Amino acid sequence: MPTDLEKIYVRLLGRNHQQELFGSLVEYSQHAQGAIASCPFHADSMPTLILYRDRPEYFCFVCGARGDWLQYLQNTKSLNFSKALEELSSASGIEIRDQQASIWRENLERTQFLESAHTFFTTQLWSAPGRETLHAVFSRGYGMEEVEGMALGFYPGPNETRDYLLSQGCPRDDVDALFSRVWISAAEAHRIVIPYRDSAGRLMGLMGMDISRRGSVAYAPITDMTPVLETPFLLYRCRGHEEVIVVEGFFDALLLDRIALKPVTGIGSDGLTTGHLETAAFFGIRHFILCLGNGPGKDRKTRDAIGRIRERGLEASVMPLPGKFGDIDEFIRSTCLDHFKKLLTRIESDHEWLRARNS
Ligand SMILES: [Zn+2]
Repeated sequence: MPTDLEKIYVRLLGRNHQQELFGSLVEYSQHAQGAIASCPFHADSMPTLILYRDRPEYFCFVCGARGDWLQYLQNTKSLNFSKALEELSSASGIEIRDQQASIWRENLERTQFLESAHTFFTTQLWSAPGRETLHAVFSRGYGMEEVEGMALGFYPGPNETRDYLLSQGCPRDDVDALFSRVWISAAEAHRIVIPYRDSAGRLMGLMGMDISRRGSVAYAPITDMTPVLETPFLLYRCRGHEEVIVVEGFFDALLLDRIALKPVTGIGSDGLTTGHLETAAFFGIRHFILCLGNGPGKDRKTRDAIGRIRERGLEASVMPLPGKFGDIDEFIRSTCLDHFKKLLTRIESDHEWLRARNS
C-alpha cells in the first residue's frame, strides 16, 4: 500500500494543489509540464523555480533549491514537520497514521540523490560512454524522439556515478551513506537506466535493462526497489483515468506510453500482485486491460491476474496479441501503429478470454 504521505500527494496532485501552494509567488505562470515562478529562496525576480505538474516537487535552476511540498512549507512558512504535514493532510482529507519525520527525510534524500544520478545517466547515454548502448536501442527500431521521451539513461558503473555526484558538490559522507543504503552494485550488463517513480511521481528506484536479452533476465535493479515494489510502473502517468493497459516489462510500458493511445502500466516477471492492485485501486484505477503476451507462462499469469482483479472487486479484460508475437515490444517493432490501434478494438472480456482457453 502507498504510505499516507504518498496518498496525500496523489490526491492533492489530482486536484492541482500546486496552484494553491505556489500561485501567490511572483511571476507565477502555468504551462503544459507544470508551472514556473520567481524563486523565494534567492533574490531574483526572474521566474526560475520549476513546479512540476506530475509530482509534488520544486526545483530552482539558479540557486539549486529543491525539495517536495512538505519541505517547501517548512522552509517558507516556518512550520515544523508535523504542522506542515497537518496542513497537507487536512487539505487532502486523508488522515495521517504514520507520521515519521525521519522516514520522510530519508525518502526525500533518496529522490534527490536518484534525480541527480539520473540526470548524469541521461547525459551519458547521449555522449561517448553510451554510444554503443544508444546504437543498440536505435537498431531495434526506436527513434531519437522515443528514446528521449522514455527518459532512458546509460549506467557507466558505481564508481563513475560516485565521482559525478562528488563533482557536483555533494558531501562525500552523504554520497557514501546513500550509496550503501540504496545502491546495488550488480547489474553490470544492464546498462540502460529506466527511472521508476512511485504513484506520486517521486523517483524512488532505478531499473537496469540489458537490451540484448528478452524476458525477465533483461532487467536487474540498479538500486533497492523496496519503496516501489507494490507500485505498478508508470502508475503516476495514469492520473485521472479508470482504465489502464497492463504489460509485462518496463521497456514495453514506456514504449506504449510514448504512443499514448491509452494509459499503460508495467509489471515485472512476478505478475500482477495484490499490492499492485491495492495501490492502483487507491489511485482510482477500476479496469485492467491485460496484455501480457503469448505462451503458456503468459497465459498462466493472465489467468492469475484475472483472479486477483476479480477478488479485489475490480474489472479485467484481455488484449490478446496475434500468436506469433511474444510481447508488445516485439509486436510494435514488427508492425505499425495502425495495427496496434486495431488491437485496441479486439479487447476481450475476461469471461470470453477464459471461455476460449477452457474449451
Ligand atoms: Zn532559487
